[in-house]
Amino acid sequence: MNKIEHIGIAVKDITAATTIYEALLKTKVYKTESVASEHVTTAFLQTGPNKIELLEATSADSAIAKFIEKKGEGIHHIAFDVIDIHAEMARLKAEGFILLNEEPKRGADNKLVCFVHPKGTNGVLIELCQSVNE
Ligand code: ZN
Repeated sequence: MNKIEHIGIAVKDITAATTIYEALLKTKVYKTESVASEHVTTAFLQTGPNKIELLEATSADSAIAKFIEKKGEGIHHIAFDVIDIHAEMARLKAEGFILLNEEPKRGADNKLVCFVHPKGTNGVLIELCQSVNE
C-alpha cells in the first residue's frame, strides 16, 4: 500500500459542505461525480498532495445515508493508493481481513476500489484504490 489517496467525509448536504471545505482549504472542488452503484454524489478537493472526498447519499439505501443515520456526519473512510488492487485484496484476505467486495468495482475519480470491513480495522472503513488510465 502506498500513500493515503484521500479521506472520505460523509455529509448531509454536499453543496453546503463544498462551501465549507472550499473556504477551509482555500481551493475549489476540482471534480464532482455521481456514482450510481454506490448511490452517492461525490466532490473532490485537493490541497497539496492531499485529497478530500465529500460524499452525499442520493438514496436512503446508500451506505452514506446509513452511516449518517448511525453516527452523524464525519470521517467515513480512509483510502489508500495501491498499484495492484487484486494483489492487495489477495494479501489482505490471506491476513484475515474482511473485504466488502469480492472483485474491485468502479469508484469515483477513475479508480478501481475495494472496501475493507471496519470490524477488522478498529472501526475504520478502509478503501483500496487503484488508478485506472482511461
Ligand atoms: Zn473514497
